[in-house]
Amino acid sequence: MLSGQDPQTEYRKLPAVDLLLRLPQISLLTAEFGQSQVADAVRQLLADARRRIGEGEHAPPALHWPELVSSHLTNAQQPSLRPVINATGVIVHTNLGRAPLSRTALAVIDAASRGYSNLEYSLANGERGSRHDHARVLLTQLTGAEDAIVVNNNAAAVYLILTALCQERAVLISRGQLVEIGGGFRIPDVLRQSGAQLVEVGATNRTHVRDFVEAITERTAAIMRVHSSNFKQIGFVSMPSLAELATIAHTPQGERSPLLLIDDLGSGTLLDTTRFGLAAEPTVQESIAAGADLVTFSGDKLLGGPQAGLIVGSRALIERLRSHPMARALRVDKLTLAGLDATLRSYASGRAAEEIPVWQMIAASPANLRERAERWQQQLAQVGISAALWQGESTVGGGSLPGETLPTWLLALPTTEPDALAGRLRSGSVPVVARIQRDHLLIDPRTVLAHEDETLLAGLQEAVRDAKGRSDA
Ligand SMILES: *Cc1c(COP(=O)(O)O)cnc(C)c1O
Repeated sequence: MLSGQDPQTEYRKLPAVDLLLRLPQISLLTAEFGQSQVADAVRQLLADARRRIGEGEHAPPALHWPELVSSHLTNAQQPSLRPVINATGVIVHTNLGRAPLSRTALAVIDAASRGYSNLEYSLANGERGSRHDHARVLLTQLTGAEDAIVVNNNAAAVYLILTALCQERAVLISRGQLVEIGGGFRIPDVLRQSGAQLVEVGATNRTHVRDFVEAITERTAAIMRVHSSNFKQIGFVSMPSLAELATIAHTPQGERSPLLLIDDLGSGTLLDTTRFGLAAEPTVQESIAAGADLVTFSGDKLLGGPQAGLIVGSRALIERLRSHPMARALRVDKLTLAGLDATLRSYASGRAAEEIPVWQMIAASPANLRERAERWQQQLAQVGISAALWQGESTVGGGSLPGETLPTWLLALPTTEPDALAGRLRSGSVPVVARIQRDHLLIDPRTVLAHEDETLLAGLQEAVRDAKGRSDA
């Protein structure tokens, strides 16, 4: 990174541990953080500095040490799970916590978590109630399904269905849908774990109605469709529609009773994505209308709520899921139910696109994004930081709408060391996660929440100044 640095000279500039600990500004820190914490911090910072010198950097200036130790200790006191500014333009960013919650969801969670709640208590008759009742009415109203149950996430939803309803029986899935969702979650593995037997049907690119019909035996319990959330098949491909699968599953043939039709939608939107200039993502309502017996989807993908797995479908089947012992192990807590309820209410009142952050971000117009990026550009120019405006693309993420992009405007900060600048942005008091492209650090306004503007600009300023400081040193 820096030319002309002599490592031996730099190593010699590093102070001894004892010397640092005796510095008044550092020894004062022991009152607040304790002796051993301060000593650990000093040792760790010295080790970091040695490693950096090995990588070609300079030793920190002697005067910086008290500040380094103090900010290291302050950082170590931060909670492990911290707010981060998502400047990547990936809306449902799985590594950054997927969906930010709506203000009403936050308010309801706050209220429900401060004290006691009617989680499992019927206020009408003063008796024990069921936590399963909370999201049920809204989910059935919104999807047209008879009944609903909420579990910990969509993976748990799929697992519960297979283990409760398909154990030791066969489940037919198209070879084109044996997908890995991410983080190593593979549908075939879940099937095996649940005790169901996977029967692969058709070919990778084409599966026909007759493939399913021919694969059915007396052991078959279900046909399962898995939405190919995070990839797209194009070209010579075909797959029976859900309605066709429903016909196969529900038409009795000879002795055998009807099969279950399970639809794992993954993201499972309630809104029509084509309204926002995106390709059509299957809606939950469509799956129910097409005849799926059980539909599963995530609470924190396009629904825009807390992490949860939602199962909607036939009353008799949901009742079996509810009374299965695993339902208890996979159940959600009161905070999730509170946030989910508020999120679903935004859909029920027709205000989801306005109130739910995921939809606000999807709906943000290029004109507004440009205006925001321009404002940032001007504000940075006032403090001597120049940045360009680029046209670019945001993505929905979260394993939905693969290949679909939304046009956006990016703030592009030129830098000779994009990785180092990105690293500094991540180490700020509110970390900023950005994209790098062609020696520029890219900030996409689409995923930066409205209240984060000031923090973002302060973080950018600090990181750029820090970078300058180092290269001038
Ligand atoms: C994302 C996804 C899952 C897993 O959902 P989680 O809520 O992350 O557990 C399962 N199936 C499909 C098709 C998905 O897209």
